[in-house]
Amino acid sequence: MIIAIDGPSGAGKSTVAKLLSKELGFEYIDTGAMYRALAYKAYIQGIDINESEIAEMLQTTDIDYHDNRIFLDGKDVENLIREEAISIAASKISALKIVREKMVDLQRKIAANKNAVLEGRDIGTIVFPDADYKFFITAPVEERARRRYEQLKANMIEADYDSVLKDMIKRDQNDSAREYSPLKIADDAILIDTGRMDLAEVVKTLAAHIGGKNVL
Ligand code: C5P
Repeated sequence: MIIAIDGPSGAGKSTVAKLLSKELGFEYIDTGAMYRALAYKAYIQGIDINESEIAEMLQTTDIDYHDNRIFLDGKDVENLIREEAISIAASKISALKIVREKMVDLQRKIAANKNAVLEGRDIGTIVFPDADYKFFITAPVEERARRRYEQLKANMIEADYDSVLKDMIKRDQNDSAREYSPLKIADDAILIDTGRMDLAEVVKTLAAHIGGKNVL
């Protein structure tokens, strides 16, 4: 069974997807981490983010995801990919056609024959258009920026709210306007606005939808 959770950044997808996967005993797959890992590699190696440079980089790049962690060329980089500079680079790299083709292919392989909750931007539209359940989780951009800012602070990463908000608006624009796999709501997705809900309530709402079909 595949559960797709899509939506813009800061809407609470990760927390909700992790909690839900735990509750269901499903695998959790963070597809954003894959784009972040590629962006991280380009960033630290000073590789320009354009189709030809990144195509070359991909030839010698190995991405893997298991046990809730992302591996880049065999190394666990889960804790190295969350900074704002990497968020922005990930948004840029994820717009490239070659990157999307490779990552979508990989995501399908990783989730094949599993019960999995996948979190991303295009899971219900492109990666698994036949997913058993599709949720689109969103919230007003100011609220998402506030959450992201609190999260960065909690992780001791330096940030200021105005820059986080500005970056988030830019990322929303990049993700929604790109040619390949833009962020959009699948026709058959259930839309959930988390602006006024706490995340435990959101998980309950999702579980209720799924439980309605006797899964829980
Ligand atoms: O979800 P997260 O913020 O970690 O994703 C980082 C970036 O990766 C997003 O801004 C988006 O540009 C890209 N992404 C994507 N498709 C996905 C998941 C993430 O384009 N399925």
